[in-house]
Amino acid sequence: MHYWTNELWRLAYLVIGFGLLGALLGVGGWGVALGLAVHMAFTLAHLKKLYAWLNAPVHQKPPAGDGVWGDLFDRLYRYQKSQTQLQGRLRRVLTRVEESSEAMRDGIVMLDPQGHLDWWNSAAEQMLGLDARHDRGHHVANYLRDPHFISYFTTGEYQEPVLFSSPAHDGRTIEARITLFGDNERLVLVRDVTRLQRLEQTRRDFVANVSHELRTPLTVLSGYLETFLDQASSQPDTVPRRLTRAFGQMQGQTHRMQNLVDDLLTLSRLETSERQTERQPIDMASMCQWIQEDGEALSQGRHHFLVEVEEPRAILGEEREIRSALSNLVINAVRYTPDGSTITIRYATHERGAMVEVIDDGDGISATHLSRLTERFYRVDKSRSTESGGTGLGLAIVKHVLLRHDARLDIESDIGQGAVFRCIFPASRLDAPAGTGNFPR
Ligand code: ADP
Repeated sequence: MHYWTNELWRLAYLVIGFGLLGALLGVGGWGVALGLAVHMAFTLAHLKKLYAWLNAPVHQKPPAGDGVWGDLFDRLYRYQKSQTQLQGRLRRVLTRVEESSEAMRDGIVMLDPQGHLDWWNSAAEQMLGLDARHDRGHHVANYLRDPHFISYFTTGEYQEPVLFSSPAHDGRTIEARITLFGDNERLVLVRDVTRLQRLEQTRRDFVANVSHELRTPLTVLSGYLETFLDQASSQPDTVPRRLTRAFGQMQGQTHRMQNLVDDLLTLSRLETSERQTERQPIDMASMCQWIQEDGEALSQGRHHFLVEVEEPRAILGEEREIRSALSNLVINAVRYTPDGSTITIRYATHERGAMVEVIDDGDGISATHLSRLTERFYRVDKSRSTESGGTGLGLAIVKHVLLRHDARLDIESDIGQGAVFRCIFPASRLDAPAGTGNFPR
């Protein structure tokens, strides 16, 4: 502030001094004008210095200046220095980010809001065959043309990654995951999952082959055991009691193994067949009826069944798969609820899709287990599941069938609260509403 006051004093001295001198010489007005002109010359001289300094290369010491000008030069110099330091720090950070991205084995591609290629690391360059000299600024869809990637990119739903064939290397599979950042810009993380895919395929083939190979010996075993047990029951005196009991147990275990092999084969078939299923209209009223009958056959009158169908609008899918999934839910409800429980099968549709619910008023499942129930071989009570003929694969099969129908399974339950198994289908899986479609009702 004092620089300002000094500057004003400087102006006042000049104007008054020259004004008085002018008055003594009889030209007071010219004196004042001369005072102002001297001050103006002083100001212009400093402005010239300032321009010269600003045009000079950075880091030069500021020119010497008087009063407010000296202070101004100092401040500008300090500001310039702090900016240079900040720039240096930013540059170092950027270099480190670039170096670490380069060192990454996963590929990173940055896209601008329009989807043009902006920057990528060398891993991405190698995996996707990008060329830094020609490809920057071009749209990503010109390079990653696989329909899976294109539809993933355009839908804008990036919760799950997408798999597609590498555009640069035949037979290699790339997994890409997009993250939005900044002003609608996109970060595409890519990695080569060919080895993982092959391992996964080997695992699937192994399970399918073993299950297939086990089928015949199990059928032979179970056939002989059945013949033996038939004979034992028609001629009880010819076979020792102990042996009959042992053979009975062997038959029970053989059936268990057959069920397990059947479920494993079903699962591997679901995993290996095409992601999309057929889109046949399924009569859901009949479907609910069938699964009720499946439940009743197992329950043998120990449970009450209720079926509620609000609007029997058809679901588009594969009837056999949907029936096996829903049957699994009803059979579980019979297996894991005490005698006398009520099992309700509900089908409802709304504008966002349809849902099938299998509701029971049994003992329920503790909330801590719910998220893991669809894992293979996950059981809440292992001995109970084995006793009731469960394989531990039922809900895994349900989940896979639903996935193939773009649907999902929601489970609601708690100890003592019964359980609700809800299959939620999207609107795209609903047939045309009653009256507008060609579905026979
Ligand atoms: P499992 O062949 O053992 O029945 P699932 O995958 O069909 O295998 O079911 C997994 C576990 O979920 C079962 O072992 C059981 O503990 C539990 N469960 C499934 N349905 C119900 C139900 N309606 N009520 C209580 N528990 C259930």
